[in-house]
Amino acid sequence: MTYKSTRGGMSGVTAAEAIKMGIAPDGGLFVPESKVTVDLDFINELVDCSYLKRAEKILSLYLDDYAGEELADCISKAYGDKFSNSEIAPVVAINEHLHMLELWHGPTCAFKDMALQILPHFLVKAIKKTGEKAEIVILVATSGDTGKAALEGFADVEGTRIVVFYPNGGVSEMQRLQMVTQKGGNTDVIAVNGNFDDTQNGVKKIFTDEALKEKLERKGKKFSSANSINWGRLVPQIVYYFSAYADLIKKGGIKAGEKINFVVPTGNFGNILAAWYAMDMGLPVNRLICASNQNNVLTDFIINGVYNRKRDFYKTISPSMDILISSNLERLLFELNGKNSDLVSEWMRELTKKGEYRVDGRTKERIQKVFWGGYSNDDETIASIRSVYQESGYLMDTHTAVAMDVYDKYVIYSRDLTPTVIVSTASPFKFNRSVAKALFGDKIKNMSEFELLSLLSRETGWDIPAGLKDLNKKEVLHKKVCEKDGMPDAVMEILLND
Ligand SMILES: *Cc1c(COP(=O)(O)O)cnc(C)c1O
Repeated sequence: MTYKSTRGGMSGVTAAEAIKMGIAPDGGLFVPESKVTVDLDFINELVDCSYLKRAEKILSLYLDDYAGEELADCISKAYGDKFSNSEIAPVVAINEHLHMLELWHGPTCAFKDMALQILPHFLVKAIKKTGEKAEIVILVATSGDTGKAALEGFADVEGTRIVVFYPNGGVSEMQRLQMVTQKGGNTDVIAVNGNFDDTQNGVKKIFTDEALKEKLERKGKKFSSANSINWGRLVPQIVYYFSAYADLIKKGGIKAGEKINFVVPTGNFGNILAAWYAMDMGLPVNRLICASNQNNVLTDFIINGVYNRKRDFYKTISPSMDILISSNLERLLFELNGKNSDLVSEWMRELTKKGEYRVDGRTKERIQKVFWGGYSNDDETIASIRSVYQESGYLMDTHTAVAMDVYDKYVIYSRDLTPTVIVSTASPFKFNRSVAKALFGDKIKNMSEFELLSLLSRETGWDIPAGLKDLNKKEVLHKKVCEKDGMPDAVMEILLND
C-alpha cells in the first residue's frame, strides 16, 4: 500500500514514510492510494481472535511495508500491561439494542491511548526502515487528552523528542495535572494563552515554516506529528470498529452481515473517520452518528453542506471536543470525491481565507447517506449522565454522554432500532467534577478533585484508575506558558538548547 496527499502534492509514499512525516509537505493529509476490502469470512475469523490478533490482521492490510513480526512486536508492546482490561476494548451491553465500546482502559483513561500507545512503536520502526538519521520531534496540539496520551506513549522512546502545547485554562484540572507531572527526559509541556484552535493553528504553522525547519535540520532534528492527522494515529482506530462488531457476533447480539450503527463523540473527526474507513472496507454499517457538543460546526455541516467556522467558540464540559476545525474531515471529502485533490485543496483554501466552504450537492448527499449529525449542550449532557446512571447503573463521562444524548435524539427522529454501539471515549473518573455534579448536584462544589475520585469510586464500586489516583502527590515538572504567537519561539528555545 502506498499513500498520497489529499492536496495532490505527493504520492507513492510508503506507510513508514507517511507515519514519519505526519503531515504532507503540501499541508495535506496522507490517505491510502487504493481501497482495502475484506469479506464476511475475514470478519468471522476475527470473532475468536484476541484484540491483539485482530489488530495484526487489520493493520497488516494497510502497513504492508512492515514485516509481520514488526507489526506483532508493535502490537504486543502497545496493548499489554498498560491496559487495565485484558480485552483492551471491551463491549458492554446497556440494553438489548445498545452497547458501549469502552476505549478508555489504557494508561491515560481516554481513547487516545488506543492509537498513541502504538504510534511510537510504528515510528521507531519507521525511522530504522527509512534510514533516518535525524531525531524526530513530535509536536502536539492538544485539547486535553491527546497531549497526555502522546507524552505517555513517547516518554523516553529512543530517537524521539516530544513537545506538547495545550490551551491555558482550556483543559480539565485532571488533564492538566496528568500533563504537567509527566516524566521523561525527552518531554516538554507548554500552556498557550489561547483556545484549542489557536493552539492547533500554531502547530500547523510551525510544521510549514521552512526557515524554522532548516534551522532544525542543521541541528539534526525533524518535526513529525502525533495528532490525528498522522495516518499512524488513524489506522489503529479502524481495528476497534471491527473488534466491536466481532464481539457483538460472539455475544449473539447480531448475526454476521447484519448492519449496526456507531455513535461517535466527535472533535477532530479522527475517530469517526476510522469508522468510515472500516465501513468502506466492508464492515456492515447502517449509520455513523456524529455527536458534537455546543461547538456544533459538524452538525450544521452534515445538515447544510456548509462548513462555517466563523462562530463563537464555547468551552464545554466535554473539552476534548471543543474544536471548530475538524482536520480529518479533509480525508473524508477526498475519499467521497474519487480522491479529487483539486476540489479538496480549493475547499481548504476557502476555509483558511474566508472561514467557510460549501460542498456541492452530490458530496452533501453522499455524506448524508452515511452520517447523521446532532449535538448536545452541557445541560443535556449532564441530564444524560444522571438518567443513564439511574436507569442502568452505567456511569458515563461527559464525552460519552454527548454521544448518548445525540443517540436519543437520533432515535426520536428516525425511529431506527438497528443495534447500536456508542463509542465511549473516556473514563468517568477523568472528568470527575462534571460527572459528580451530574449525580450529586452542587453538594460537591467544594470538594477537591481527589475527594471526587473517592466519592465516585464509592458510589459505583469501580476502582479509581491507576493513572489518576496519586496525581496530587506527583511533582509538577512543566511550568512554561507562552502567547499564541510565541509558539515557534518557545519550540526553538527548547530544541536549539538541547
Ligand atoms: C479526542 C477525544 C474525542 C474526539 O475525537 P476525535 O477523533 O478528535 O473526533 C472525543 N472524546 C474524547 C474523550 C477525546 O479525548
